[in-house]
Amino acid sequence: MSSHKELSEQLKTDIVVVGAGIAGLSAALEAAETGYNVLLIEKNPYIGGRVAQLYEYFPKLCPPTCGLEINIRRLRENNKISLLTLSVIKQINKENGTYQLLVQQNPRYVNNRCTLCDECVKVCPVSRPNEFNFGLDTTRAIYYPYNNAYPQKYVIDENFCRFENCKMCVEVCKYNAIDLNEKKKLYEIEAKAIIWATGWDPYDASKLENLGYRKYPNVITNMMLERIASPTGPTNGVLKLPNFDYPIDEIAFVQCAGSRDENHLEYCSSICCLASMKQAHYIRTNYPKAKIHIFYIDLRASGILEDFYTKTKSDPLIEFHRGKVAKVTKSSSNHRLIVEAENTLTGVLIQKEVDLVVLATGMQPTTSKKIIPLDNIIDENGFVRNDHNDGIIGCGVCVGPKDVATVVQEATGAAMKAIVNVKEGKNGNF
Ligand SMILES: Cc1cc2nc3c(=O)[nH]c(=O)nc-3n(C[C@H](O)[C@H](O)[C@H](O)COP(=O)(O)OP(=O)(O)OC[C@H]3O[C@@H](n4cnc5c(N)ncnc54)[C@H](O)[C@@H]3O)c2cc1C
Repeated sequence: MSSHKELSEQLKTDIVVVGAGIAGLSAALEAAETGYNVLLIEKNPYIGGRVAQLYEYFPKLCPPTCGLEINIRRLRENNKISLLTLSVIKQINKENGTYQLLVQQNPRYVNNRCTLCDECVKVCPVSRPNEFNFGLDTTRAIYYPYNNAYPQKYVIDENFCRFENCKMCVEVCKYNAIDLNEKKKLYEIEAKAIIWATGWDPYDASKLENLGYRKYPNVITNMMLERIASPTGPTNGVLKLPNFDYPIDEIAFVQCAGSRDENHLEYCSSICCLASMKQAHYIRTNYPKAKIHIFYIDLRASGILEDFYTKTKSDPLIEFHRGKVAKVTKSSSNHRLIVEAENTLTGVLIQKEVDLVVLATGMQPTTSKKIIPLDNIIDENGFVRNDHNDGIIGCGVCVGPKDVATVVQEATGAAMKAIVNVKEGKNGNF
């Protein structure tokens, strides 16, 4: 591998952590604060993963920034961690107890001189769908991924930028922070341990044809609702939708949308019941007249979070309906949607007419997309297994569905395992 022609840099580190969501970030910090050198590799132009997209998170119902900001500060203050954003691993080899990795970093086209002054964004003539907000709005081709994103600099989407045919951003930038000629880099990295923390993607709701996603503008997913509810989201926190001009007073949550279903995800994502209760709670707090229906097969709210369920259940305007939703159709007389389910105990058909349907879709591991080089250590649902001796330590939701508090505990364990591997040259799980 060392003869690779385009190689930009060769680096040596103790531990490589792949994925800078809450799992990878926590594991990297724990290992670095214990004195080990860590290289953190993230495919997005920012760190924080899915947690950064949440409006507020249980159990404390605080905004994600309250957890992420502390971790970002720990990261900035620790010279034992190096961060590569816009980067993915192309190859892993193991030789004599050490790993050789080939990492590709795509260009950001914006350097550290960026001050986030916004002048480039104002002149950029091209729009792109904003994937951070699930396409509910757009950004310019040069953009800041989200409020408080770290690293604090813009990035250019090369699929939309007109490069040499435009250059308006370069001309307006008085800090010389934009380089449209930046090239991708290849790094060859030697490491003694690897933690894999590449998290999850929301299950693709367009596969649930009976539930009306993409067919009706007022059917959305639970993660879209997180962005709509957020003051920094596409509607500045107001409960409304693009292409839908009606008031939203009555909302249905469809639990297990594509989960516990052998045609979609056969497992339970474990947090969706609590996520919907959290969302029902914040809608009711911000819109005291809103009425909520939660359709469920059975409710799963474990440990101390059971209190949260009891609290939600005591709200007279939140109704729980036992029944798997069979279909969502549009009313023939107005904009409203009809949700139909059959009570799984009594067999009675339930029908509710609502303004908005939220599909509680589950978490699918990014590793189910067969990201190389993990084929031999993922299970039939795409989760990373930790019961092998390949030496790659899985951590966070790419190992199995869980909430943030459990992810953080698991990350500490993963850091400990990696440290033992570095110290003892073990290269394995134990
Ligand atoms: C609707 C909803 C609401 C939720 N609300 C809550 C809540 O209120 N409280 C709570 O505790 N939990 C909540 N959760 C769960 C929470 O989102 C997860 O526990 C958390 O995101 C897991 O973090 P993670 O780091 O494992 O994964 P992620 O957040 O997915 O982070 C993974 C990181 O890895 C990066 N990555 C992916 N692939 C690669 C690659 N090949 N190379 C490099 N980097 C890569 C990603 O870009 C990302 O930054 C909710 C989940 C849902 C679906």
